[in-house]
Amino acid sequence: MASIIHSPLKFRPLTKEKYTIAIDGYSACGKSTLARALARRLGYSYIDTGAMYRAVTLHLQREGIHPDDVERVRDAVPHIHIEFRPEDNHVLLNGDDVEDEIRGLAVSQMVSPVAALSDVRRAMVEQQRKMGRNGGVILDGRDIGTVVFPDADLKLFVVADQETRTDRRLNELIAAGRDASREDVAANLKERDYIDSHREDSPLRQAEDAILLDNTHLNLEELIERGVEMVEAIKKG
Ligand code: C5P
Repeated sequence: MASIIHSPLKFRPLTKEKYTIAIDGYSACGKSTLARALARRLGYSYIDTGAMYRAVTLHLQREGIHPDDVERVRDAVPHIHIEFRPEDNHVLLNGDDVEDEIRGLAVSQMVSPVAALSDVRRAMVEQQRKMGRNGGVILDGRDIGTVVFPDADLKLFVVADQETRTDRRLNELIAAGRDASREDVAANLKERDYIDSHREDSPLRQAEDAILLDNTHLNLEELIERGVEMVEAIKKG
């Protein structure tokens, strides 16, 4: 089994409650920005489940394994050890800091076919449930509210329009010193959204009890404030 160790971020909790918060949505809608900021604010752990699928993808690429080769993928999965480094939440793949490498287009272009494989999903979901079982955790991904934690205390489904998402992702890549064209970024987001929402196993969709949050016109502070308001609302019941 792939194993993952996760340590909570060291921030002073503002609340005593140990909620489980699920944030899902399409690619580059601001889910991870919201999840990370909210986790800091609440003193919760943050689990970037997309980083886990990206790390699996990088491992397969390094081993020369194509996602169509289901048997080799199945054999490889138990040798993939993923953990989040406590100091900075960087993802480590078999002990190697791959935080930077997993964000590039090479991984982005292969991650959705890899994440569609049931062997991969089974291993990741099992680990995500272990990491989140004590609550006090925010997970962002595609299937958190529908599959990983269907009983989460708060479920958000984040959306933003295509242009905004493309601009944000392009700016992130440029800020990280990467070479990327707007066309490639836009095409990658569209392709991933299509594969993620049409796959057989755990397709991306809004859970019936998830709250829709449109992030097209919000700045970072406004986005965090919306998140905090929703957490306050569940505290009041
Ligand atoms: O969140 P991020 O864009 O980094 O996720 C990368 C990819 O990982 C997604 O496009 C999707 O294919 C996969 N993923 C998934 N389920 C999750 C999180 C991510 O299938 N819970």
